[in-house]
Amino acid sequence: MTGKWRLFAAAGLAATVAYTANLSPVLNAACLVLVGAGTVWACFAGPRRHRAEPRTAWSLLGVAVLFCLAGILLRPVVHDLPGLLPLLADGATITGYAALAAFLFAMLRRRRSLEWHAVLDGLIVCLAGALAAGLLLAAPAAAVSDRPLLVSVVAGLYPLFDVILLLLLINLTFTTTTWPGGLIALMFAMFSMFVGDTAYAVVGAAGVTYASPLFDAPFLIGFVLVGVAALHPSVPLLGQASRPPVQAWSWRRIALLVPAFAVPFGLLVALPEMSRGRRVGIALVGVLMVALLLVRAVTAVRAQAAAQRRAEHQAMHDALTGLPNRYMIGEEVARMLRRLPAGDPRRVWVLLLDLDGFKLVNDGWGHDTGDQLLIEVGRRLRAGAPVAAPVAAVGGDGFMLATLGDREQAMTLAGLVREVFGHPFAVRGGELTITCSTGIASAGGESGRVEALMRDAETAMYRAKSEGPGGFTVFDAAMHDQVRERIDLEVALRKALEEGQLSVAYQPIVEMGSGVPAGAEALVRWAHPERGAISPATFIPIAEDAGLIGAIGDRVRQEALRQLGAWREAGIVGDDFYLSVNVSGRQLTDPRLPHDVASELRRYGVPARCVAVEMTESVLVDSAGVAGRVLFELREMGCQVLIDDFGTGFSALGYLRRFPATGIKIDRSFVTGLGVNPGDDEIVRAVVAMCHALELSVIAEGVETRLQRDTLAAVGVAKGQGWLWGPAVPPDDFARHWHTNRAAALPERPRRDHAC
Ligand code: C2E
Ligand code: MG
Ligand code: MG
Repeated sequence: MTGKWRLFAAAGLAATVAYTANLSPVLNAACLVLVGAGTVWACFAGPRRHRAEPRTAWSLLGVAVLFCLAGILLRPVVHDLPGLLPLLADGATITGYAALAAFLFAMLRRRRSLEWHAVLDGLIVCLAGALAAGLLLAAPAAAVSDRPLLVSVVAGLYPLFDVILLLLLINLTFTTTTWPGGLIALMFAMFSMFVGDTAYAVVGAAGVTYASPLFDAPFLIGFVLVGVAALHPSVPLLGQASRPPVQAWSWRRIALLVPAFAVPFGLLVALPEMSRGRRVGIALVGVLMVALLLVRAVTAVRAQAAAQRRAEHQAMHDALTGLPNRYMIGEEVARMLRRLPAGDPRRVWVLLLDLDGFKLVNDGWGHDTGDQLLIEVGRRLRAGAPVAAPVAAVGGDGFMLATLGDREQAMTLAGLVREVFGHPFAVRGGELTITCSTGIASAGGESGRVEALMRDAETAMYRAKSEGPGGFTVFDAAMHDQVRERIDLEVALRKALEEGQLSVAYQPIVEMGSGVPAGAEALVRWAHPERGAISPATFIPIAEDAGLIGAIGDRVRQEALRQLGAWREAGIVGDDFYLSVNVSGRQLTDPRLPHDVASELRRYGVPARCVAVEMTESVLVDSAGVAGRVLFELREMGCQVLIDDFGTGFSALGYLRRFPATGIKIDRSFVTGLGVNPGDDEIVRAVVAMCHALELSVIAEGVETRLQRDTLAAVGVAKGQGWLWGPAVPPDDFARHWHTNRAAALPERPRRDHAC
């Protein structure tokens, strides 16, 4: 339909020319019906095709055209019938105009363009137009004596209807910033109809109610333009708000208002021989126009002031929670610091809160729920904190509180925060429990700078986060060193990757009962030239933040698969021996991963069933996203998909069922307490029962003692991994050990005897 409006315009124009040429009544009627019916079709089909809203408004426009068409068709038939019969044509036309007005009104409402000053501008112009039309056209028409008075009056009224339409159109033009083609076509359509009505009214003043097809031409052009507007691809924009900033006065408006005010004076001058009554009428209309102008001035100034207040509020507040934003609390903290007298032992304390796992809420329950949660958290914080302590919403899911006093007062505030998060939040008819990590920092009066204070609070908050959810940390200067250290590590890691300082170690995974190895987990190792071995638990998160995890992951996986291929070929491992590789959430967002794995499997001659990918629970929430698809593809290929550190994160049963997981690895934290802490026994028992029901394999991580092993075996855990059997070791050690123990179980090692 993109080009249809051009076709429609061309056909419509041709029909209008043919109609105006007035060759035969039949051809005329055919042209008229063609244009009219085409326009009605366009009003229904165009907006539907382009999904323009409000649909009912466009239907109204179609109806309007239909009635106007009926009016034009009826007029030559009824215009010289006796009595009130000529009004039949007017009845149809006026109904058409009413529908047209309703269309414009609906459009303006949809665009929320019915602003006071725009309406008042229109009213002023409307009054001027009505005065001129009334005196110059309607009155002479009404004075025509050889027909019923009503017919005469109605004939003179058309320009008045047009004035009302113009009023709405003026509103439309004053409340738009863009000029889509559809809108321009619509405006010219109205203008064309206005010309037609005025022409009719001028001849109507002399008693003529039907002139010739030439007088109908403006209406046909109007129809064609309405059709063009409806078919134009910009039609959806007509109903969309493109609200310009409140602009009470503009040159455009003044250019419209000044001529309007000239009308009463002009009439007084142009028609000097008027009755006293008419003069009074003109004066009254003039007074009314001035009164409207004053009302308009007052409302415009008020609207401007309100808009300014709104803008100021928006600049200072968070749109979602309505709380002050970072800028405003920054100002407040600066004020607190300035007011603190020199030598005052009190300090300004800032608490920066960041919700733990908020992304999971957003991804898992939807953004609406996330938003509601934020609103609720903000409300509770504001209600819980002392009135004098500012509370602000900062960043996406952060909040900030500030207070003046000693350390104890700051701790009291931190306690209040903890209490706020102590109860579940009522969100969307359910309940949600969430924690927050809090960073606390303070500054004294003389030297305190807001930016430094906020930065310190942020550093402390990240520290709190790294120590697990729900905690709070008070900033101390050593943290800056740690931040620097992290940056140093990142630089060193890049170098390590280039210089090949990373290697892969292998930890056996054994059959719990027999101790026979079933596979191994490939774990990355970093031997730093000066600092020695650096734990992956330290550098993997840095690699994730620095965008290096993809390169590291690829390197480890390729090396591990190459190694497995070599072991298989040398007969060091059997056909069912599998290798488990860790993949981080970031790696799973790369849709090429399955393809890469497939080609590596081919290259090293490893069947997919001998490979498992391990990822932590946090990737589970993205089941509909790329990560979900990547995992499904890996599973389709035949790889095992294991959930690592099960129980530490987001262990929702629903996610497990939606995910292509083939098994789980119970986190070490649950294994540690086995046989000692009955609670852990129960948790592991429940997890195992659940996994059996879902047909998932279960591996226990971090098995260090015989007691743990026996307890795990007793509840039905089939496989285990831990120092009891051996730590992760370099491939040669692993091969030697494995080769010598092929037929037998790995010897159990005493606790703490680990070296890797
Ligand atoms: P993970 O995947 O849960 O690996 C198990 C970790 O527990 C390993 O630590 C392993 O050495 C350790 N461990 C094994 N048995 C025992 C035990 O009996 N007692 C105790 N206390 N610990 C045991 P590691 O090698 O330091 O790795 C830490 C984490 O770093 C891994 O946890 C994994 O999440 C991540 N990681 C390691 N290599 C890679 C890799 O190549 N890619 C990615 N993305 N992450 C890796
Ligand atoms: Mg792992
Ligand atoms: Mg683990």
